[in-house]
Amino acid sequence: MAKSFRNFIAGKWVAPSTGEYFENRNPADTRDLIGRFPDSGAADIEAAVQSAGRGFGLWSRTPAPARGDVLRRVGDLLVSRKEEVADAMTREMGKVLAETRGDVQEGIDTAFYAATEGRRLFGHTVPSELPSKWAMSYRRPIGTCGLITPFNFPLAIPTWKAFPALLCGNSVIIKPSEDVPHTVTLLVEILLEAGLPPEVIQLVHGRGETVGKALVEHPAVGVISFTGSTETGAGIGQTCGRMHKRLSLEMGGKNAMIVMDDANLDLALEGVLWGAFGTTGQRCTATSRLLLHRRIHDRFVSRLADAAGKLRLGDGRKSGTDVGPLIHEESRMKVERYVEIGRDQGAELVTGGRRPAGAKYARGFFYQPTIFAGVKAGSRLEQEEIFGPVLSVVRFNSFDEAVRINNGVRYGLSSSLYTQDVNLSYRAMAELDNGITYINAPTIGAEAHLPFGGVKQTGNGHREGGWEVYEFYSETKVCYVDYSGRLQRAQIDNYDA
Ligand code: NAD
Repeated sequence: MAKSFRNFIAGKWVAPSTGEYFENRNPADTRDLIGRFPDSGAADIEAAVQSAGRGFGLWSRTPAPARGDVLRRVGDLLVSRKEEVADAMTREMGKVLAETRGDVQEGIDTAFYAATEGRRLFGHTVPSELPSKWAMSYRRPIGTCGLITPFNFPLAIPTWKAFPALLCGNSVIIKPSEDVPHTVTLLVEILLEAGLPPEVIQLVHGRGETVGKALVEHPAVGVISFTGSTETGAGIGQTCGRMHKRLSLEMGGKNAMIVMDDANLDLALEGVLWGAFGTTGQRCTATSRLLLHRRIHDRFVSRLADAAGKLRLGDGRKSGTDVGPLIHEESRMKVERYVEIGRDQGAELVTGGRRPAGAKYARGFFYQPTIFAGVKAGSRLEQEEIFGPVLSVVRFNSFDEAVRINNGVRYGLSSSLYTQDVNLSYRAMAELDNGITYINAPTIGAEAHLPFGGVKQTGNGHREGGWEVYEFYSETKVCYVDYSGRLQRAQIDNYDA
């Protein structure tokens, strides 16, 4: 009998009010049942919000350096449990162990950054325009933050949101992806072990359309941070706009790597394999378009097809595996639909394009690394987020044309340029319309201490990571202290007296 996991609400691990559970199975082998997780309802969100309100009262008055100390201990615990958490993550999400170790490391980096931020969280002191008057700003916590996370970074993304939110003095309610509920359960255990007061954090498992929606619509949850698809984010944005909530959206991508004719092609080849097929293409920053200069196009495509054909598909927990399964059957069917679309639109399938054969793959959601060449700018394959191991190759004649193609999609997360030309590198940084541009590296590889996010339909202007996220999770308060002993009227007494 598989274990039944619980929500964490009001300081206790509790069963859902609905009495219902959903199954969490290993996407590499669906016979492996990891556990049953709460299929919660709106009543569980209500209980979590009430508790989080009490948690906020306590935590917001705890000095920021003391809050940082808790997060430092969280980082220490993640270091000591890195292997165990990575293994649990690969088991429920599918990406290879090297990547889930990286995912945990991102959580560790985020914890240690947050810990030291507790001793910064700077405001400003500013000269007043009036004599004997002091002017300053400082950062205050906001309240209860609702955090809604996707499946592809089961630990890192919850930490990107929860750690800065907590450091700033807020309480949090996490609604993790129903595809990866186990990893975040381990994270909450670690936060509690590190000494976070219980009512400061709540974990409510369940479906987006029920508990996710109830969280977004709850009037006492003033902040929503969402990472997921652009479609889901659009609906959340409407609700938050109507209710005047502070909202951070991190959504889809259609990221391009541009390879010029002077590029180091060995480096570019290694980069595109990692960018396109790492995490089975299920990264928001995955390289899903490869723009090749016409002079190197044919050579590069042939080497790439050869190398992609050699990638070893399999269980991410087995050594030697390069590419794991997709997260579930619907994702694999989506990939198949796009492969059909590519064929129908006349693109040339140069490798992959089907499910792998063999008993080893029969129980998982595997799909071969797939490359289409001859993809036209503006076609559906080139424009739409597939979120799987499908790379579209587009030929271009000039740097200007490559920039136009890169910018011609509705998303704007990351981009990359391979060249030896320093002038083109700087032009790329200025002209590629994305939140992140890499030079001589693939479209993936964000570091925890730099702001992360995209432009256009990828986001709504906020950033996760680095120093900027602390502004999202705190409110600026300005204070004036007039010690002149008389009424001083700003804009009037100092000019018209
Ligand atoms: P998804 O939109 O299906 O789900 C994300 C989360 O939203 C889940 O927890 C889900 O339960 C919840 N949800 C669904 N409907 C909801 C609703 N009506 N109200 C509230 N919550 C709801 O996304 P996914 O399939 O888990 O993740 C893949 C997507 O995430 C891709 O589009 C990818 O590009 C994007 N993503 C973006 C970033 C980024 O930082 N830009 C990072 C990772 C993933």
